[in-house]
Amino acid sequence: MRPTIVWFRRDLRLSDNLALAEAASLGKPVIALYVYDTNEEAHMGGASQWWLHHSLKALAKSLQEKGLQLVLRRGDPLTIITQLQQETNASHILWGRLYSAYERQLGEKLKKHFSDSDIITSSFNNSLLFEPWTVLKDNEPYKVFTPWWKKAISGEIDFKYTKAPSSIKPYKNIASDTLNEWQLISPHWGHKFDDQWTPGEQGGKKRFNFFLHHLIENYAKDRDLFAKDGTSKLSPHLHFGEISPRYCWQRVYDAGYSLKNKGAESFLRELGWREYSYYLLYHFPTLPTENWRDIYNNMPWSQSKADLKAWQTGQTGIPLIDAAMRALWATGWMHNRLRMGVGSFLTKNLGHHWKKGLAWFDDTLVDADEASNAAGWQWIAGSGADAAPYFRIFNPTSQSEKFDPEGTYIKQWVPELQHVPAAYIHAPWEHAEKLKSYGVELGKDYPHPLVDLKRSRQEALDRYAEFVKKA
Ligand SMILES: Cc1cc2nc3c(=O)[nH]c(=O)nc-3n(C[C@H](O)[C@H](O)[C@H](O)COP(=O)(O)OP(=O)(O)OC[C@H]3O[C@@H](n4cnc5c(N)ncnc54)[C@H](O)[C@@H]3O)c2cc1C
Repeated sequence: MRPTIVWFRRDLRLSDNLALAEAASLGKPVIALYVYDTNEEAHMGGASQWWLHHSLKALAKSLQEKGLQLVLRRGDPLTIITQLQQETNASHILWGRLYSAYERQLGEKLKKHFSDSDIITSSFNNSLLFEPWTVLKDNEPYKVFTPWWKKAISGEIDFKYTKAPSSIKPYKNIASDTLNEWQLISPHWGHKFDDQWTPGEQGGKKRFNFFLHHLIENYAKDRDLFAKDGTSKLSPHLHFGEISPRYCWQRVYDAGYSLKNKGAESFLRELGWREYSYYLLYHFPTLPTENWRDIYNNMPWSQSKADLKAWQTGQTGIPLIDAAMRALWATGWMHNRLRMGVGSFLTKNLGHHWKKGLAWFDDTLVDADEASNAAGWQWIAGSGADAAPYFRIFNPTSQSEKFDPEGTYIKQWVPELQHVPAAYIHAPWEHAEKLKSYGVELGKDYPHPLVDLKRSRQEALDRYAEFVKKA
């Protein structure tokens, strides 16, 4: 019997994988394929590569339990898939849809390549609740989140996930790379994340269960507290498609919650922000590379390598910023509010282009996502669709006073300040003399602030206002 190729992309799971379910239902032998795409457009940062390694390992194990081999190949996906089809005489090629211009083109080219043959190519929605072309206003995309979300949830929202196929007919073993030869784990990241994360479908479901049973109830208020494990931490699992938003949605409803509960509503709305980021990427494919609002195109940006380095390494002398950036380096993850805070600091107070921040996040986040990262950076820089207005500049001092009042989070990541009382920890430069009695001399034990927050804020406001005026 001619086999079916299932091309796994960012849907590294067995349950609610509609391409795999379809393959199983065809009753033909299945080839499970993952292609490590070496094209420039598919570049993946270091932390994400660590995750991918472990996620593929987990997927291979789950497939093996069903008797299937995970075939690993490296190169250009189109070349590899067409070669594999020839090698095996496959009759079907199935995959989950992705939404960047490059990823969509891959699917389109594959369909075109086989269009004059008897080979069936089909793609499935494995990543989203609302595919980008389904929620429009007079055939145009929504440019603001809230009306888009209202419209999206006003329709059919009875999302159901599909269980993993109970049996899948395996194809005979064929040539495959080994995961280790891809060397996805650089010594740089290798050891650091091991005890923090469990990549893979089982790890994602476990974390989801924990969130559902212990955190969702208070999510709306706890999600802002930096020292608290109050959010789902599902972003890397969702990014790699180890769990699906349909799964999350149904499980939330099955547990008796709905959009009417504060915690659940807030969580589902955040899933909505993820969806909206893909929506923007689909309708505005240059989102990761160009200002969505072009009025800022000629804005002068700082070129200071020293400032950028201080930001990246958590040496700015602003405790909350340093804590967040060091936590990112150590864990591959950061709270949403802190992403906004460090983004605001980089683009507004330090005057660096948002692309510098995006690139750093891309390399260091385990959930680095082309859509959410670009939407997040453009939002905070004020250049994006439905962006924060340029005059909204986060004040890291009041943010930490409000959301880390005791300085617990700061002390965890900036141990230089661990003996400093809460009253002085948020803005240590205002208490330089007092700090000495807690063993901290500014400029020696902990840096002086890189910029004066008030002055740099005003300079940013002036810079932006000038461009808004010209527009
Ligand atoms: C500058 C900046 C860059 C960002 N880069 C990324 C990125 O590369 N990858 C990424 O997944 N998210 C990104 N985000 C969004 C958000 O910060 C993370 O999704 C969230 O912090 C992940 O933590 P969590 O899983 O505990 O989220 P929760 O608060 O538990 O939310 C549940 C899920 O909703 C989604 N979500 C939550 N907030 C957002 C948001 N603002 N935008 C889009 N989706 C959201 C995520 O998939 C998340 O897992 C970025 C935000 C900013 C401001």
